[in-house]
Amino acid sequence: MTDCIFCRIAAKEIPADVMYEDDEHLAFRDIHPAAPLHAVLVPKRHFATLLDVADPVVQGKLMLAALATARALGIEESGFRLVANYGADGGQEVMHVHWHVLGGRMFGWPPG
Ligand code: AMP
Ligand code: ZN
Repeated sequence: MTDCIFCRIAAKEIPADVMYEDDEHLAFRDIHPAAPLHAVLVPKRHFATLLDVADPVVQGKLMLAALATARALGIEESGFRLVANYGADGGQEVMHVHWHVLGGRMFGWPPG
């Protein structure tokens, strides 16, 4: 999808600071980081939201790639937070499914 910013980043048409990559996924530094380490992990194939990923294998690989991103960021020991925003209350702004991988500081609970 040429009008989707995350598809264009995944296709390397728009520059991004790549933090993890495999054949089907790309993680890049969030331009408005909410933590010292903040990556956005996307599948290279376009799906609008988490609920559009119907194939359990694709969904599972997305989660494994989010965990691989945390490992690549070096926050496996210190800890990290995975966030997937969905819908109006969840606050998803970019309509290409993604996991936020956050680390490098402590996070409160419940989230604000
Ligand atoms: P969400 O609210 O879950 O849809 O979050 C979208 C995230 O994408 C936000 O944290 C943005 O800062 C981030 N973002 C948007 N455009 C870019 C970009 N070109 N490069 C890196 N991160 C981006
Ligand atoms: Zn897309």
